Amino acid sequence: VTSALLVGLQQCVSAPVLSTSAQLQVYSRDFGGLKKCLPLAVASVRSEEELCRAIRFLRAERVPMTLRGAGFSCHLGTLSDSVIIENRPSEDETVRLSADLVEIPARLRWRAVVNQLEASRLMPPVLTYSLSPTVGGTLSVGGFGARSIAAGAQVDQVHGLRVVLPDGEAIECSPEKNADIFRLALGGMGRIAVIERATMATTPLRPMVKLSSRRYASFAVAEEQLQTEEADYFFVECRGHDVQSHAGVSAEIQDVFSSESVVPREFFQAPSAAFGQDDVIHVWCDYFVDGSALGSMLEYLDTYLQREGLDRIHILAIRTPRSPNSRAFRPLKKFSGNRYFGIGVFYAVPRGDERLLRDARKAQRDLLERCLHLGGRPYLCGAHDLDENGIESIYGEEYEEVEQMRDRLDPDGLFNRPPNPARLPAA
Ligand SMILES: Cc1cc2nc3c(=O)[nH]c(=O)nc-3n(C[C@H](O)[C@H](O)[C@H](O)COP(=O)(O)OP(=O)(O)OC[C@H]3O[C@@H](n4cnc5c(N)ncnc54)[C@H](O)[C@@H]3O)c2cc1C
Repeated sequence: VTSALLVGLQQCVSAPVLSTSAQLQVYSRDFGGLKKCLPLAVASVRSEEELCRAIRFLRAERVPMTLRGAGFSCHLGTLSDSVIIENRPSEDETVRLSADLVEIPARLRWRAVVNQLEASRLMPPVLTYSLSPTVGGTLSVGGFGARSIAAGAQVDQVHGLRVVLPDGEAIECSPEKNADIFRLALGGMGRIAVIERATMATTPLRPMVKLSSRRYASFAVAEEQLQTEEADYFFVECRGHDVQSHAGVSAEIQDVFSSESVVPREFFQAPSAAFGQDDVIHVWCDYFVDGSALGSMLEYLDTYLQREGLDRIHILAIRTPRSPNSRAFRPLKKFSGNRYFGIGVFYAVPRGDERLLRDARKAQRDLLERCLHLGGRPYLCGAHDLDENGIESIYGEEYEEVEQMRDRLDPDGLFNRPPNPARLPAA
């Protein structure tokens, strides 16, 4: 990287541009930590203005750029051997309420959004398990959580977006305006634009939840509850021992004083999640299937229960979106019935244990094959082994549509095209 490039980039942003090997280490991996790739430089942008300036400058210099939120994905999409643009909130960045909608700067992390909305006795309808990812990061992949049983995905809550295109121009988009860009930016893995702000639904804050938990001898016997449960919050999980389900209904004041089990809604949230530890590789991937495939998938999962290195399996029931075509890389080709299912299989492998790492990756490959065979699809932010050909073969016309839009908006191929994982060394 030339010093002229660093000087030019520094003129675009207020935070110091990072370029020493020590500063870049943390950006050389994602949360999963499977591969390592040292970028040339990292520019943290803290406003739309800085973002547009940085993109325009890098484009004029013909330098490839990769966009990074909090780096919580495991699919290598935030790695780069060129320049990383990191989307970081500034101290004074706040959400803006208007009626029952909220406009959120996409570089905010969800924790900050939750805290700010709480002051107005509101909350987002769906939150992911960890609140550490950025709003733009989860809207680029989908965003699912325990409330998905009642409210679907986070992308289903979006009414409008402000996006920055690969030429550095910012535009508004919605189902009515620039509708193609709106649709392909949601769940689009940052392939066509940066999500700068999102206008999203809110719901009244209900801090407490009436909890009902059940234990099962296997996933297969939890199927009936997965197919029929009608709670406000729900997941089924195994953390190495037996399978447990947790269903929650927003509590009323009188419930708090009753004998029923009432817990804070944070029960359904991860306590906190630090960025991936260096001594562990997270081979995490989620798979989506519909109701007709769930039984076979659960039986298959039961063969995984006691496997070495398996941290947990986590299953969500997700309400079918009202408008099934409203995002790129849909979780299922066709939605049927009122719900579909997200199955997360999380391996934690001590770094250096090559045998366990091989087993974990093979396990995920087998699960992917089974999921595809049953008509399902993977969650693209996970640690799958799919290259572009693999993604194309799964998503077909949807992939083509994203690529055509990408060619139109980024003809020089400079924007958010991370390096080929096959060419990266292991971390
Ligand atoms: C501990 C943990 C718990 C998780 N729990 C859940 C869960 O419950 N439900 C769930 O759905 N997911 C969950 N995830 C996955 C997580 O939501 C996704 O990986 C998400 O993409 C991470 O957001 P990020 O800000 O870290 O994005 P990054 O990992 O930095 O980026 C992910 C992708 O999005 C692109 N991107 C980032 N910001 C933008 C933007 N503003 N505009 C356009 N593209 C952008 C990047 O280029 C990259 O391709 C979890 C992950 C971890 C590590």
